[in-house]
Amino acid sequence: MVNTESRTYPIYFESDFSGIQNCIREIGKVYSSYVIITDSNVAPLYADDLKSQLESFGKNVVTCVFEAGEQSKNIATVSDFYGRMIDEHVDRKSLVLALGGGVAGDMSGFAAATYMRGIDFVQVPTSLLSQVDSSVGGKTGIDFKAYKNVVGAFYQPMFVYINVNTLKTLPARELYSGMSEVIKHGLIKDADYFRFLQENVEGILSLDEDLLKKMIEWSCRIKKSVVDEDEKETGARALLNFGHTFGHGIERLKDFELVHGECVAIGMHGALKLSNNLGLISEEEMEDALALIRAFHLPTTVTGLDVDTIYSELFHDKKTTGKRLVFALLNTIGDSFLNQDTIDEEIIRCCIEEFKGE
Ligand code: NAD
Ligand code: MG
Repeated sequence: MVNTESRTYPIYFESDFSGIQNCIREIGKVYSSYVIITDSNVAPLYADDLKSQLESFGKNVVTCVFEAGEQSKNIATVSDFYGRMIDEHVDRKSLVLALGGGVAGDMSGFAAATYMRGIDFVQVPTSLLSQVDSSVGGKTGIDFKAYKNVVGAFYQPMFVYINVNTLKTLPARELYSGMSEVIKHGLIKDADYFRFLQENVEGILSLDEDLLKKMIEWSCRIKKSVVDEDEKETGARALLNFGHTFGHGIERLKDFELVHGECVAIGMHGALKLSNNLGLISEEEMEDALALIRAFHLPTTVTGLDVDTIYSELFHDKKTTGKRLVFALLNTIGDSFLNQDTIDEEIIRCCIEEFKGE
């Protein structure tokens, strides 16, 4: 159960889609129609299966498919959904199902939040990132021009339904990318979780169902505990930005080369080094963390950028308050805090030097 100021909702951890009808019944409402929103990669894999589950309710099931990728996460795509929903007579008693990765989830949630001033929606995340991160917390939205997620709403789903076996079709690079957020959860909140990951690298990479369920549930619990404290991101939630201060900078500079989790992995290297340089986390724990990141095939250095470029890019983050950089730092593995003090520019540059490859 995720408890937020707005509502409490369950997260289900499953091996297929057969349980979704019961989960919908649990909501206790009768829906007049169902709208599956999914992307062009996920649709051919799972849309029919999900659709046939929903058809057992005997109501209209509409499937909206958009072209996979972040470039579709915009108002034009959402506008297509609105048009289709109106054409299909989707009314305020309908249920939207977001089937896919974070792009499908964020956009469907936003469409559901705004269509007829808000209709119910559920998350059916199929990428690791969406299962452990974007489907929990209620942030929905779209990109606008060059700005990521600048238009959106906090809107909680009725439930989150995770079929862990969908990860079997996820491209390996996307799986590794999601592992970056998973490792982050251990680093910022839970040393036992970090050890669990260390001990199960092979099993996780071979997509052992029980291990995946345990891992995803554990990660959701950590994200949920942070979100419960701070639904609208006023304080504690910023700990989830561990590795992201450097990571977002790298991502903006390497947009077409690196995926999000790879940038976060490199950014975590920077944040670990920063914590170590400030006399916090030990050298040994830092090396353990880096070894785990690398074990999941994630990079810890970025090439082709110089220190000045990376340093000045850090100030273009929308989360940079004024001109001061706020970093989530580690005292030890599993114990993080938000640093509000000014950090010497030289120390930050030194850390960039560490993760900057040739
Ligand atoms: P994505 O939705 O683009 O999915 C990544 C790729 O994997 C896509 O090509 C997709 O088609 C494919 N895919 C997904 N599931 C698959 C499966 N089971 N089998 C085969 N292919 C599959 O991206 P993502 O990494 O899932 O999510 C990134 C998005 O999430 C970004 O837009 C980001 O802003 C957002 N996000 C939101 C939050 C939040 O709190 N709402 C948090 C983090 C990220
Ligand atoms: Mg992230």
